[in-house]
Amino acid sequence: MPSSTPCLCGSERPYSNCCGQYLTELNIAPTAEALMRSRYVAYCNGNVDYLVATRHSSTRRFDDRINLVKSVKTTVWEALTVLNTRQGRQNNRTGYVEFMAVHSQPNWGQLHERSRFIKENGRWFYVDGEMLPPILPKRNQACWCGSGKKFKHCHG
Ligand SMILES: [Zn+2]
Ligand SMILES: [Zn+2]
Repeated sequence: MPSSTPCLCGSERPYSNCCGQYLTELNIAPTAEALMRSRYVAYCNGNVDYLVATRHSSTRRFDDRINLVKSVKTTVWEALTVLNTRQGRQNNRTGYVEFMAVHSQPNWGQLHERSRFIKENGRWFYVDGEMLPPILPKRNQACWCGSGKKFKHCHG
């Protein structure tokens, strides 16, 4: 990916100044949110190695890799919105990031999750996530998928 392209995480910063520096292991993600964003980009790019490496050992499973390979092959991610963060800063040991991620394949849908992160040996790791109910706009508001259509006219 050219380094000047806008980062897929939606930060509007160039990839190389955003998640690119973590995905290429040039730098370590300083906050839970930075790690979360870079993991989202890894899902977009099919970077299974990064997803495995940034998952905390306490919740790693023997079939993680197989499931991740399947997931990145079948799911096309369109957009990420970080909704809320709690702790997860450089001086914290734990952090929470609430986000909504939209996918268009295998179908249109959204993942609304509060992820939990732990910092160990100076690195943030994804531990697990709590699924939250989908964010549904009012009928006349813009759809969550980013189509620009009103919610009532989308996915009909
Ligand atoms: Zn980014
Ligand atoms: Zn829609």
